[in-house]
Amino acid sequence: MQVLVVDDSALVRDIVTSIVVEAGYPQPLLAKDAREARMHIKRSVVDLILMDIQLPGIDGLQLTRQIRRNLKDDHWIPIIFLTIKDDADYLSEAIDAGGDDYLVKPVNKVVLLAKIHAMSRISKMKAALDETNLQLSRLTQIDSLTNTINRRGFDDALKHAWRLHRRNNEELCLLFLDIDGFKIYNDSYGHQQGDRCLRQVSELFKSCLRNESDLLARYGGEEFVILLPNTPLRAAEKLAQKVLNRLQQENISHPNSDTAPYITVSIGISTTRDGAVTGQKLLSQADRSLYMAKSNGRNQLCCYEDIEQLMVDSDT
Ligand code: GH3
Ligand code: MG
Ligand code: MG
Repeated sequence: MQVLVVDDSALVRDIVTSIVVEAGYPQPLLAKDAREARMHIKRSVVDLILMDIQLPGIDGLQLTRQIRRNLKDDHWIPIIFLTIKDDADYLSEAIDAGGDDYLVKPVNKVVLLAKIHAMSRISKMKAALDETNLQLSRLTQIDSLTNTINRRGFDDALKHAWRLHRRNNEELCLLFLDIDGFKIYNDSYGHQQGDRCLRQVSELFKSCLRNESDLLARYGGEEFVILLPNTPLRAAEKLAQKVLNRLQQENISHPNSDTAPYITVSIGISTTRDGAVTGQKLLSQADRSLYMAKSNGRNQLCCYEDIEQLMVDSDT
């Protein structure tokens, strides 16, 4: 429990410090005004604030409103006011401003420690609740059939990867993969076998990824995407070729396919070097390349730059 004491009186800061330290908590952070308090909150992890209401300049109520406004919803720091005024209206105003509790000075050691203890208990419960919420939101981003990230998770991942690409100016590639003739596969072997095939193919894709930052997601149905941050196009092509080769080796029987006697995929590839101005544009360029790979006969990859070249050729 890292306590921050905000009080313009050095005496009060000393008294509170000795109570807090004696109770076994770490040395508190000290601030004599709003500016110093904000600096500590910005630079350090603060678990509890003990705040004087009457401060020079911005007072404790205003500072509390600022803190509540500026911290994100999932970041709550309990605030206990320390004040010399013991009156109900004042207390009510302090709680309305965003304070959680109220303590009248001179500080009583037993009461202060009991309040710190109670706040620490609430903080722990809140942290556990935040963790559960985080796990729940992660669960809603997982596809239950293949255990990969789903469309919703992918949308977030793409936004994140796009931000990194913009910040670091590193090449970002995207693969759009679609199983060939999968409707016929389902029609031939039934939906359950189709599901097993999707799982097997998704595992195979996963095993082709090179490192932690490569990301596979099920985009929907028999369509998958792979995000490759900080990857040149040639490496993305190599990975796509690896997927095609590995599927050939895996030889998942599909005798009724119009493409090959085993399960194959078509892959469209796009890169940020092709002038995409948003993540969605990068995705749609990969989708267009996928369409071209399908029209060219399936079981192959196609890069967006090849489509662009085709367009240039047809113009001249
Ligand atoms: P193409 O080579 O042009 O990609 O043809 P396709 O048959 O693969 O594509 P199409 O879009 O016509 O059909 C996709 C099929 O994928 C139809 C749908 O029933 C099947 N599918 C989508 N989601 C699932 C799933 O979760 N499980 C199973 N078993 N099948 C699925
Ligand atoms: Mg499809
Ligand atoms: Mg398909």
